[in-house]
Amino acid sequence: MNTKNKTQLLGKKRSEIEDYLDSMGESRFRGRQIHKWIYKKQCSSFFEMTDLPRELRQILEDNARISIPRVLKQRVSSDGSRKFLLELDDKKRIETVLIPHSDEKDSKYTICLSTQVGCPIACSFCATGLSGFQRNLDAYEIAGQLLGSQRELAKRLKLPDSNNLISNVVYMGMGEPMLNYDEVIASIHILNDPQGINMGQRNITISTAGEVKGIDLMAQENLQVTLAISLHACDNELRSGLIPLNRKYPLEKLLPAIRNYIAKTNRRVTFEYIMLDNINISKRDAQNMVQLLKSLLANVNLIPYNEVEALDFKRPSPQRIKQFYNWLIQGGLNVSIREERGGDISAACGQLSLEQQKGKK
Ligand code: SAH
Repeated sequence: MNTKNKTQLLGKKRSEIEDYLDSMGESRFRGRQIHKWIYKKQCSSFFEMTDLPRELRQILEDNARISIPRVLKQRVSSDGSRKFLLELDDKKRIETVLIPHSDEKDSKYTICLSTQVGCPIACSFCATGLSGFQRNLDAYEIAGQLLGSQRELAKRLKLPDSNNLISNVVYMGMGEPMLNYDEVIASIHILNDPQGINMGQRNITISTAGEVKGIDLMAQENLQVTLAISLHACDNELRSGLIPLNRKYPLEKLLPAIRNYIAKTNRRVTFEYIMLDNINISKRDAQNMVQLLKSLLANVNLIPYNEVEALDFKRPSPQRIKQFYNWLIQGGLNVSIREERGGDISAACGQLSLEQQKGKK
């Protein structure tokens, strides 16, 4: 049977896999076993499911599939961050990054997930934008990045049990989550399922370039996830130059949507602000940001720019970073500077696949 016609079991809940086995005339118990193989052991081959009868393994192999993305290539940073190039069933490639919380051997990791192959937003500073947009990811492909990465990480670290290695999820890889809204929400439910991966919603952050339609929809959801907004500039001219989506949703449309989101959900919003030397970190920029955000329930996360080979943007010096931070603190904002990790492995989103396309090793 063509793989396309096989039933995809990745992403299905335990009861749904039980139903599937039931529909084949098998016991529901077999469904529970398979569910465990997928979510607790990151197993994608029915032949490896040693507690199933041989004939059933063959029947499943012929009729179903478990498309956990495969790691094609990885890079390990001196600080322990790992960047994976993953391959999907249709051979498309996406990136995911694992960031350890400390240098300890038993450190937990944050995983950065992709939501699209490429990205249609084309921010001027971003490597992903350079490779264009190919397609949306399905919910199982989004959540599956966690399982594929977990499996690889446990193998590399020679750990007997791969569960509980990843404690936080950020949707900050390739793509714009709000342009793939339904699959992103479905993927949160897959990650959050207590019988499966069991990732707490409070440990999940969704980042958007400012797609207002998606922010309005998120305001209606009853979710405990954190919403992060890529701000990067506090006047429309500069922001439109960095994020073309700002022309469709300028600050006077974006900010009311965020206010509405905060009012409806009572949740604190994070503003991400990449620091680009000589572009968006002047005293004036700091004053504009204080003006814009001071009345909001918000945290500001400053991100020192990860330089991209094909682009001219530069990371500011540590002194300038600190100075900008101080201006914001003096203005009364809640600010943190994102810890520098993975700089030596081109961890910025889109960089690994870009290098791969250019034929670099
Ligand atoms: N499309 C979404 C999520 C993906 S990008 C968004 O725009 O929020 C996740 C974050 O990484 C965004 O804040 C993005 O602006 C930032 N980013 C992209 N390229 C970067 C780079 N080279 N260095 C630092 N941050 C970068």
